[in-house]
Amino acid sequence: MIVHPESHLTAPGAPAAVAHGFSTRVGGVSTGVFASNNMHDKKGDSRENVLENRRRFLRALGLEPDRLFTVAQEHTVALVDVDGLTPELTLELEADGLVSGLPGVSLGVTTADCLPVLLAARDGKAVAALHAGWRGLAAGILDRGVEAVCAKAGCDPSSVWAAVGPGIGACCFEIGPEVVEAFLAAGFPARCFHTGVAGRPHGDLPGLAAWALGRAGIHEVQVVGGCTHCEPGRFFSYRRDGWPNGLQLSVIGIRDSSQGDRS
Ligand SMILES: [Zn+2]
Repeated sequence: MIVHPESHLTAPGAPAAVAHGFSTRVGGVSTGVFASNNMHDKKGDSRENVLENRRRFLRALGLEPDRLFTVAQEHTVALVDVDGLTPELTLELEADGLVSGLPGVSLGVTTADCLPVLLAARDGKAVAALHAGWRGLAAGILDRGVEAVCAKAGCDPSSVWAAVGPGIGACCFEIGPEVVEAFLAAGFPARCFHTGVAGRPHGDLPGLAAWALGRAGIHEVQVVGGCTHCEPGRFFSYRRDGWPNGLQLSVIGIRDSSQGDRS
């Protein structure tokens, strides 16, 4: 199977025992507004096409497509430990974060401006996938994720690898003053905000995520970059295009060495 080289992005420095990727809109089989690498059918794309896009993506990473968990993502700080649950390609858990310590299981979040954040214990004993919109970020979803990975792997936050995937950039993330206030009240630094040309406040969502991960004790955070809003050729963006529209999928999983490394 041929996989388009720009169909997903990865972050440097991931533990060898872990596979991960952030999908783009490039290289899939979906058409129209979903062209072409759409990873969710909730806005009207054909389920068949979405599942084919998911299969290609996970196989390209060396992960089993039928062992994927995803979240319904309601901008909460709810996090589910999936170990002991049965995965399905289309199952969505009521949460904004997932954690696992089992090889062969994949965790995914879908986004179209919000940030996907992936975590892994450096020894490969635990991974987490987190959906971080501004509400979840301000409320502490990343802290919950770091705590869950450390508890499962029995490690310190300094032994956790963290990657912040593509989302809406500081260039485009115009927000109301109440959003700035919510972050400042939660202890986030004022340097993550600036005033745009029209005089409205803008937030640096990846910067806020990196800061939160640092506060949680992670020493080095990989920020993949890319603005979903101003790169229509690479990313779906809800803010730019509204619904119906496609979604990116970001995935992490512990490699199953009993299956061999096929990535
Ligand atoms: Zn932008």
